[in-house]
Amino acid sequence: EPIINFEKVNKWYGNDFHVLRDINLQVAQGERLVICGPSGSGKSTLIRCINALEEYQEGKLTVVDQLLGDDLKAVDAVRRQVGMVFQQFNLFPHLSVLENLTLSPTWVAGMPKKEAIEKAMHQLERVQIAEQANKYPLQLSGGQQQRVAIARALCLTPKIMLFDEPTSALDPEMIKEVLDVIMELADGGMTMLCVTHEMGFAKAVANRVIFMDQGQIVEENNPEEFFNNP
Ligand code: ADP
Ligand code: ADP
Repeated sequence: EPIINFEKVNKWYGNDFHVLRDINLQVAQGERLVICGPSGSGKSTLIRCINALEEYQEGKLTVVDQLLGDDLKAVDAVRRQVGMVFQQFNLFPHLSVLENLTLSPTWVAGMPKKEAIEKAMHQLERVQIAEQANKYPLQLSGGQQQRVAIARALCLTPKIMLFDEPTSALDPEMIKEVLDVIMELADGGMTMLCVTHEMGFAKAVANRVIFMDQGQIVEENNPEEFFNNP
């Protein structure tokens, strides 16, 4: 039973822009997919569908046994199990690093404050940013901010992590510290999908690479074959 199952999924923006075309994609638990392809090919839309940040019009998408459609309960259940990291870190600038984690209703609902802080600190330690817990996002480097965003997503104890160009907004010297954190999650067996242009990273981390063009998956391969036949 795949943890993510796209069956002939089609999506349009408006009435005429066909952004996802007959997407069939099964992802097993523990798989690490890298999604490549030119800008505008639908990569971001594809992964945003997985936690229902986008709707689709045709086909069937099931994530962690929930059919994503009109059922808001399913959407909620999926969002509690899928963490997402965006290109722009999407931290709240007026909240401290720690508050960015502890003020999320998604995972702290009903939890005593002390426990929420302990859990958040644990995730900040995991991405080696715990010393900055009381700083504000804009006092941190881009690489540090992105690690905070990763820690925030990890607070959900997600079954799946989605990364949408997590290093594209970073200065070159900060890319490695973020990729290293993602690499560690991969080593820990996390199911993940990552849109990236970092080919060295893709080769090291992926067990499957899919290539999109104009809304379709046009190639799917294991990394060796993919990188040896450009
Ligand atoms: P990628 O991640 O591969 O760059 P996207 O999934 O972001 O591609 O976008 C695919 C196409 O859909 C692009 O041409 C983009 O301009 C278009 N698009 C994205 N979001 C919207 C939207 N909200 N409304 C209309 N078109 C959109
Ligand atoms: P809040 O619920 O207070 O907005 P979150 O940490 O849940 O805080 O969300 C922060 C950002 O992540 C928001 O931009 C939101 O759209 C997005 N988001 C919320 N839940 C999820 C999720 N399960 N997976 C991915 N992105 C999410």
